[in-house]
Amino acid sequence: MNLAICCDFDGTITLTDTGKELLNSLTDKDWQAIDQLVINGEIGTRAALIEQWGMIEYTTMDEIFSIVDNIKIDPTFIDFYSWIEKNNIYFIILSDGFKTYIKRILGKNNIDSSDLEIKSNDMELINNRISLKFFTESCEHDCANCKYSHVLKIQENFDKIIYIGDGLSDILPAEKLADHIFARTNEDLALKLKTDSRLIEFSNFTEIQRYLEDLLDN
Ligand SMILES: [Mg+2]
Ligand SMILES: [Zn+2]
Repeated sequence: MNLAICCDFDGTITLTDTGKELLNSLTDKDWQAIDQLVINGEIGTRAALIEQWGMIEYTTMDEIFSIVDNIKIDPTFIDFYSWIEKNNIYFIILSDGFKTYIKRILGKNNIDSSDLEIKSNDMELINNRISLKFFTESCEHDCANCKYSHVLKIQENFDKIIYIGDGLSDILPAEKLADHIFARTNEDLALKLKTDSRLIEFSNFTEIQRYLEDLLDN
């Protein structure tokens, strides 16, 4: 069986959400209120990110990295990822975060990301303000990085889509396109898809690996 694993980064591979940690540290403004607008379906993630990152009036890369370097990944991801590599399973990271910190966090945890496919947004600093670089030019959901479109394309070449995630931006691709959905227990994705028969709540990657080993054996 030809599996494709589509995996979110923040709050899924990492134990906390890097974007939220950065916003908490770099602005006193109420960025959480903007998340609520996304939850209510009033705006897409693209508009939300513009609002939220625009709240930071001044920062430096040193400051950003000092926060990023405290982000921990789920320790069970390391073995999971080497199992994937050993078995030549297709794996991609789909993230609404920034490639700059994703690669840095993976590197700090001794994960070689040179062969790892990552589709995410990115950022740069211009005059000490964060300038966003969105992956998606435009889509019908006003996504910053349209995970739905990525998974739709991947689906053409694989028998089954395994989706691993935790948050708001994972709901649409998981619900519409996945064959098996692994959702961090008690987070937005799990809560939203509570009654979905494809949903498996997880708290570490060892559980996912065991499940997938069984799936591949049968
Ligand atoms: Mg997430
Ligand atoms: Zn979209």
